Amino acid sequence: MTYHIDQNGFYGEFGGAFVPEVLHACTEQLQQAYASILESQEFQHEYRSLLRNYVGRPSALYEAKKLSAKYGARIFLKREDLNHTGAHKINNALGQVLLAKRMGKTRIIAETGAGQHGVATATACALLDMPCVVYMGKTDIGRQMPNVERMKMLGAEVRPVTCGNMTLKDAVNDAIRDWCCHPQDTFYVIGSAVGPHPYPDIVARLQSVISEEIKWQLQEQTGRDYPDYLMACVGGGSNAIGTFYHYLDDQRTHLVLAEAGGLGSDTEQTAATIHSGSVGILHGSRIMVLQDADGQIQEAYSISAGLDYPGIGPVHCNLAKQHRAEVLSINDDEALNAAFELTRMEGIIPALESAHILAALPKMHFKPSDIVVLTVSGRGDKDMATYLKH
Ligand SMILES: *Cc1c(COP(=O)(O)O)cnc(C)c1O
Repeated sequence: MTYHIDQNGFYGEFGGAFVPEVLHACTEQLQQAYASILESQEFQHEYRSLLRNYVGRPSALYEAKKLSAKYGARIFLKREDLNHTGAHKINNALGQVLLAKRMGKTRIIAETGAGQHGVATATACALLDMPCVVYMGKTDIGRQMPNVERMKMLGAEVRPVTCGNMTLKDAVNDAIRDWCCHPQDTFYVIGSAVGPHPYPDIVARLQSVISEEIKWQLQEQTGRDYPDYLMACVGGGSNAIGTFYHYLDDQRTHLVLAEAGGLGSDTEQTAATIHSGSVGILHGSRIMVLQDADGQIQEAYSISAGLDYPGIGPVHCNLAKQHRAEVLSINDDEALNAAFELTRMEGIIPALESAHILAALPKMHFKPSDIVVLTVSGRGDKDMATYLKH
């Protein structure tokens, strides 16, 4: 029994590659190519040296003493907020652009909601000399101007998307349409552990550097290489699967996810896909989706722009379904309070996304001897306006 991907690109009943006919060849080519490239010595050498010297890895594993005292366990923070560009997303963007180059692709496209994945991809493309087009909903462009400006300064073209609600899922649709039109030369860099097989596995492997580091850092600091609890927030699921990867099949470690409840998982203003969604197909994958009775995708809502995706990665759907992971729904106000608590207690301003998993701490039942690792997926600079309003 494993929680990793199976030979057909599924995690239990979730995952797969449900793509239109024109994209079959593209996904198939990627399925054939990705594993041997990612495992090759040349790729690993270049990727690892960029992670070390450009991103600034390993990211710190910090024992938060005051947080530990308050919640009654040894709590360690995995500091992805310290990475170049301020979050874990750069681990994935760099890896996918390197993969694209090795597949002979000459043009990069990406989608972005809040703009964080767009900035990470534009950064990787500037560094690695690739032309970059980022699809972004017009609504999101209006509310995420600083990231739009960053992408432009980095040399990317930001294409406004004007269909639907003009947010993330519409941007994904336009990116997929672009990919359909340019299957030969274009690589689509997906920003989370979602999309058709093999994307969830590509993203999981690239982000797995997080749990790989946790293993030796815990060994160094506590004398054993596994925690009792691993905790991460989940939008599409990339920082979470990166945090869990090397522990997925190790039952000694409890896995805890926080999804964005918005105004409450029992309201329509929510992004709590596991709590409020049902099985459907979105963006090429069978996953849990927020949808109405007719199967129309519902707009997700969260105060945190990085968590308001109406789906969630197939690996996480399976972890929830098999009760391997516990999934908590955290509301806007709980996340805001948790962000202020971490800031005042430890001097770390977390991203609003990361604040959702911090808000799960008071809901846990730890023993004093428990070792807990919680991933702070990003830093809060981008959320200052929201924090100040609060
Ligand atoms: C994008 C983002 C997330 C959510 O994405 P995942 O793929 O679920 O990790 C979480 N935290 C931060 C800081 C982000 O930028």
